[in-house]
Amino acid sequence: MNTEALNSWVELSEKAYAHNLVFFKRKLKPQTELSVVIKANAYGHGMVEIARLAAAHGADSFCVHSLEEAQTLRAEGFLQDVLIMGPVARPLLREVVAGDFRLVVYDRETTADLGRLAEELKKPVRVHLKLETGTHRQGVDARDLQGMLGQLKAAPDLLLEAVYTHFANIEDTTDHGYAFAQLKRFGEGLDQIKKAGFPLAKKHAACSAAALLFPETHFDMVRLGISQYGLWPSRETFVSYKIKQAQNDEDMLRPVLSWKVRVAQVKAVPANSFVGYGCTYQTTRDSRIAVLPVGYSDGYDRRLSNQGFVLLKNRRAPVRGRICMNFIMADVTDIPGVSVGDEAVLIGSQAKERVTADGLAQLMGTINYEVVTRISPHIPRFITK
Ligand SMILES: *Cc1c(COP(=O)(O)O)cnc(C)c1O
Repeated sequence: MNTEALNSWVELSEKAYAHNLVFFKRKLKPQTELSVVIKANAYGHGMVEIARLAAAHGADSFCVHSLEEAQTLRAEGFLQDVLIMGPVARPLLREVVAGDFRLVVYDRETTADLGRLAEELKKPVRVHLKLETGTHRQGVDARDLQGMLGQLKAAPDLLLEAVYTHFANIEDTTDHGYAFAQLKRFGEGLDQIKKAGFPLAKKHAACSAAALLFPETHFDMVRLGISQYGLWPSRETFVSYKIKQAQNDEDMLRPVLSWKVRVAQVKAVPANSFVGYGCTYQTTRDSRIAVLPVGYSDGYDRRLSNQGFVLLKNRRAPVRGRICMNFIMADVTDIPGVSVGDEAVLIGSQAKERVTADGLAQLMGTINYEVVTRISPHIPRFITK
């Protein structure tokens, strides 16, 4: 990895990623498929890089949002099963059949189209039927289930490989009553499907929080997103997990991603000068300001204006003024020796100091998912040993 010519880059720790997958593999039954969710550029980590790590460290399959993501994986040579969880526009359904992808189904029109295409192309398609159990996002309602099953029966080239659902309220609470009510509705749907004569369908329901907290949701496959990257789905999940099962510190997730930037300029700024657009920060003393070539267009959120901090020479340097489109300014008055070309850490650690995605999320009033997924795909990603 040579980063000397780069202004900004993302490093992915192979060791941390491998640890996280082992962590989950120990929790799953051997027959449970470990499917890693690598939509949204692998939550900003870099889809192809993460797919490579996942394949090397024991993931069984991939879940993505779009057909395009699925096709990229194939073009990069990944032969694992890929479940497309988002909608595929009708004119592109042919590509799903051709690519031998798994596709979520939840409406009769798409299912009928897909069935016809599979027949025409003489190529069976594996579908994963999504049941509505309380999230009210995507899924077949209980009252429409019989009709949907009829549609599937009428299309012999559609193979009902699995039935699944998704929890609405499992991360944001330590009260998991709603999740269990969903699980009950899921069970009722599964009974109907079995009665209709589809006995072989697999079942899946678990995202990270469910996989961490409730073994009874693991079924035949888990869809592991945020936690494979070493981030907790929420503070509530972390607390619930700690109380429930963590025996030692070894048994914890390790963040995979670090985000770095090189100092572009260091300048002396006299006392009582303003820094950045809108003059939102005024120096109170003679200061030294490091200019860093990363901004909100790169995914460093503007809400971190006068709030965030970066690491330089193992110390914290506060962000001064507004985040610009391509720049931020950091106060290095108390950090001697900072010079052009020095490496600053936006997310990650230096010696004992750390900036976490969770910490930034808190400052921004959002969740760690948003912090990492918005790191621009234009920034190069590297796997570090
Ligand atoms: C994104 C997503 C997941 C992964 O959720 P995490 O909380 O990141 O583990 C699982 N299932 C579905 C349907 C999703 O959309």
